[in-house]
Amino acid sequence: MNSRIHSIAGNRKKMTTQPSHPRINPESQQRFASKVLALTGVLQTTLETSELINLFAKELSGFVRFDGVSYQLPELQISISVGSLTNHSCQYQLLVTGEALGEIKLFRFYPFDENELETVENLISGLLYPLRNALLYHRAVQTAMIDPLTGVKNRSTMDDAMQREIKLARRHGGALSVVLLDIDHFKRVNDDHGHLYGDQALRAVAQCVQKTIRDSDLLFRYGGEEFMILLSGTGSDGSALLAERIRQEVENMKPFPSKDIQLTVSLGISSLRGEPDATELLLERADAALYRAKQEGRNRVIIA
Ligand code: GH3
Ligand code: MG
Ligand code: MG
Repeated sequence: MNSRIHSIAGNRKKMTTQPSHPRINPESQQRFASKVLALTGVLQTTLETSELINLFAKELSGFVRFDGVSYQLPELQISISVGSLTNHSCQYQLLVTGEALGEIKLFRFYPFDENELETVENLISGLLYPLRNALLYHRAVQTAMIDPLTGVKNRSTMDDAMQREIKLARRHGGALSVVLLDIDHFKRVNDDHGHLYGDQALRAVAQCVQKTIRDSDLLFRYGGEEFMILLSGTGSDGSALLAERIRQEVENMKPFPSKDIQLTVSLGISSLRGEPDATELLLERADAALYRAKQEGRNRVIIA
């Protein structure tokens, strides 16, 4: 194992290398080692990162008193916290054979002492491999959900997301809308400038939509040059405003500095009503509205 740990307690800094061995007699050292092994066994029961961190916190609380734990891996947009993040902390950069696995931080109302830090470090060594597996799993799931060209969610995740959001909207009596977006005369971009520019234009539109919507809105690549936006908590008025903003943003966008290409999009909107089979009906109505937007001259928003 090649893992370097950087720990800070209060304003004291400490560098140490994993695994460090507790300064205790061989017998209790062996007992401790078997506890670390048991911990790894427990941690291997899940591949879900936040469940893993929760389990780790639970196991760790049997050895050291602490108020809270946080785990961050910005690269995968993972940020998990358990308990209260009080004023003293020890912080560890997790590394396995040169691979960065993020940072874990333990919090307490009063400082950790040297023995406690050693215990924490030894227990963290039991977390490393289960964490690496969980992150591999997380990446695989992400890859299966993301469209590689545009970086937005792919269609395979759309049905689940729609069913989940419809259920939530029904339970809480909230609004829900679907926006279908199709790039206008996109075939011409490919024909006039080549497929590579076409791909780049697709990415530019996806990014433009992504930065226009809220974090809670979900964007999917629906087909070739079509996207779907799922807006929870938003009725037809709100989604019409947003769709119009997207239409303008795309129209004003300059996707290629060296080429004078202007892209426009047509958008169709439908909102949740009381009907039972809502998933299909929402899409059907949005699709019909999009069709009308095309018929009426493109570069416009139509509400079903
Ligand atoms: P309309 O305004 O009616 O939507 O016209 P359009 O040309 O956009 O529609 P059409 O359905 O005729 O053509 C869609 C084009 O999108 C054809 C296809 O080559 C292109 N396209 C689909 N997916 C991709 C992709 O991944 N990359 C590139 N470069 N082009 C794509
Ligand atoms: Mg199309
Ligand atoms: Mg099109």
